[in-house]
Amino acid sequence: MAIYLKYKYISIIFDVGSKKGKVYFVIMAKIFDLGTSMQFIETRGNDGKKPFTVPFSEAILRPIASFGGLYVPQSLPQLSGEFFRAHLNSDYKTLAMALLEACAIDIPKEVLQEALSLYDNFDDATNPVPVVKVKPNLYVSELYHGPTRAFKDMALQPFGVILSHIAQSKNENYLILAATSGDTGPAALDTFRNRANVQVACLYPDGGTSDVQRLQMVTEEAKNLKVIGIKGVFDDAQNALKFLLDSPAFNAALKEHHISLSAANSVNFGRIIFQIIYHVYSYLALVRANAIAMGEPIELDVPSGNFGNALGGYYAMRMGLPVQKILIASNQNNILTELINEGRYDLRTKEVVMTTSPAMDILKSSNVERILFDLFGAQRTKELMQNLEKEHFYELTQEELKVLRTIFAADYCTNEEGNAYMKEAFEAGYLMDPHTATCFKSHATQANPKSVTIAYSTAEWTKFAPNIAYALTGQKGLSDKEALQLIAQKAGISIPSMIAQLFDKEVCQSNVIEKSEIEATILKFLDVTSSASR
Ligand SMILES: *Cc1c(COP(=O)(O)O)cnc(C)c1O
Repeated sequence: MAIYLKYKYISIIFDVGSKKGKVYFVIMAKIFDLGTSMQFIETRGNDGKKPFTVPFSEAILRPIASFGGLYVPQSLPQLSGEFFRAHLNSDYKTLAMALLEACAIDIPKEVLQEALSLYDNFDDATNPVPVVKVKPNLYVSELYHGPTRAFKDMALQPFGVILSHIAQSKNENYLILAATSGDTGPAALDTFRNRANVQVACLYPDGGTSDVQRLQMVTEEAKNLKVIGIKGVFDDAQNALKFLLDSPAFNAALKEHHISLSAANSVNFGRIIFQIIYHVYSYLALVRANAIAMGEPIELDVPSGNFGNALGGYYAMRMGLPVQKILIASNQNNILTELINEGRYDLRTKEVVMTTSPAMDILKSSNVERILFDLFGAQRTKELMQNLEKEHFYELTQEELKVLRTIFAADYCTNEEGNAYMKEAFEAGYLMDPHTATCFKSHATQANPKSVTIAYSTAEWTKFAPNIAYALTGQKGLSDKEALQLIAQKAGISIPSMIAQLFDKEVCQSNVIEKSEIEATILKFLDVTSSASR
């Protein structure tokens, strides 16, 4: 209460309604340490209409900032050596809570606790993120032990609780749009299933996902979830999503249903924040395993698409985690390799190619923008991003490229190389998926051989079984089901029940539409569901 009164007092003195007043207010609040929550600013600067800063809850609900930019923390908490030592033996949830508290987001602690309790549903509640040694100096942090068997659960499981909480506390209803290349969709549907005040429309590229991924979505029965296949690739789904988020007509139509719009894609900071935690946890796991000494710098090796995972590692580094380099692994859609090695982001000559690691079949890697902002500031970011939108191209200066390369290194992995890495690892006793395999290439060509590297495993073998079966045995053309059985038998393991059960479930969301029909299809879904609930 005292804090609230002080706020009111200062806000009156400084006329918070005006832009200048807001700046003073933030500065004064900092000086007097009023316990302000983490504030977010915009990657492309402020347009004079949106607030100058917003708290976490706002950045989650309305993730698109001025000029089509993104929200980023105004500052990051600095973690001391003492923090890392104190949490050396902390379990995942304890560490996560400490990091969230250090960030001071405007979400009540009980809600955060409920959100984090979902990690109890992972394979091993005491260790939701196992870190496994696979080679000298190479460890794999397995991020796929959640309900939908891909790393999207790491962030989306807690995100669902938090978003539903904010919606309920504001007494508002939200439509969450999700565009998926195959893993976000199932994870978003799982986390929002039957949650209050939230409906989900999930767009996926028909034919661009594995069978298991598609079944995870189209067998979804909950009334608040809509799954829509579109004729196109992931970038089409993501473009449609961005268009709708920003469309006044669509937003007005939703208002008639008393619904506001938000997004569950990795541009949403509500996901990014949970992707900082496992980088810290994995580091501490290496210290516990005596693989490194506390404080020793390591390298992170991240299979990247939309760059959310890598951004989490970058923020962890900025907060004080001893990271020497972040290796960006790509597949043949190697636009990030080109950016980091040559300083060019060039869409003009490229089209998405379908690879055996479809979750990384992306050319517009949205979260790169947050890196550009952090390194080069809002004005330059706006310039680069507008260039990308208009000319489908931007180029960094030599100086900028040098800065980027002090932090990142990159390489890409072809399908054939990935298959060979999977086979080699399997023969040495480690079963991994094609996305994880891309890290082995960047490790081979980019890692400092003297450093310890953590590669991130982003999907379980069950999600991409036909390709893995081909890599391991040379057998082509197996169905997902046949491939699952073959690998399980060869590896002497069983198929996890949530995957095995999929094949007996009824398909209840089978519609595949043209891109032009997306808006109408979503509105029809809302008509049906809102009249049913009346
Ligand atoms: C989403 C995903 C990626 C890419 O992660 P980003 O955070 O978008 O870079 C990689 N692998 C798998 C299996 C994924 O689901």
